[in-house]
Amino acid sequence: MSTETSSQCALVLFSGGQDSTVCLAWALQRFAHVETVGFDYGQRHVVELSMRARIRERMAAMKSEWKARLGEDHTVKLDALAAMSETALTRDMAIEIACNGLPTTFVPGRNLVFLTFAGALAYRRGAGHLAAGMCETDYSGYPDCRDATIKAMQTALTLGMDRELSIHTPLMWIDKAATFALAAELGGEEFLDLVIEETHSCYLGDRTKRHDWGYGCGKCPACELRAKGFAKFMTERSKR
Ligand code: ZN
Repeated sequence: MSTETSSQCALVLFSGGQDSTVCLAWALQRFAHVETVGFDYGQRHVVELSMRARIRERMAAMKSEWKARLGEDHTVKLDALAAMSETALTRDMAIEIACNGLPTTFVPGRNLVFLTFAGALAYRRGAGHLAAGMCETDYSGYPDCRDATIKAMQTALTLGMDRELSIHTPLMWIDKAATFALAAELGGEEFLDLVIEETHSCYLGDRTKRHDWGYGCGKCPACELRAKGFAKFMTERSKR
């Protein structure tokens, strides 16, 4: 097996959402060089993507070691995935997905596509690690976020590219409350504030309403999860 990849270099799947932002902080604490990649696939919460540059800037300004470690940002346009999410949905299926609480832009196996592209990019950038914010605890509705899926992808990518590639998912077994707690642990109050103020998770891309847990419609499954997690985090913190 080739040894050209660096064990000190990581590529983070960075959407600008809460989970991937905390994941980026996690990677910046651990790796000497960290690059980011975002996927543009016509998602409704395109507002999430537009926040990426701002979040990266603020994070670099927060800690000198984060600034020193934060490398290039990459954007990959996945038009085929956009086409799938827009047109390849029958009416019955659209209703079924909506009733499951999944956004209608949901594409089955989407994360497999992201990880494959990220793996190829990591290869080209000489990075031996991928980091991503997938979480089995909260999103059991997404089988491509599960630990077994990620482990299988790690094996497939390592074999398929004949290079050691590790996939890290620091949020896999923690809930939203613990993600807020991890944010505070990694970057203190200033980073926690950034996560609340700048990151976006709402499926509807609503940034008109500011709640104590951040911006969002407050009604979609992603907003409900975030609101509940934040309330639990605040309760647990007040007990300490
Ligand atoms: Zn929402």
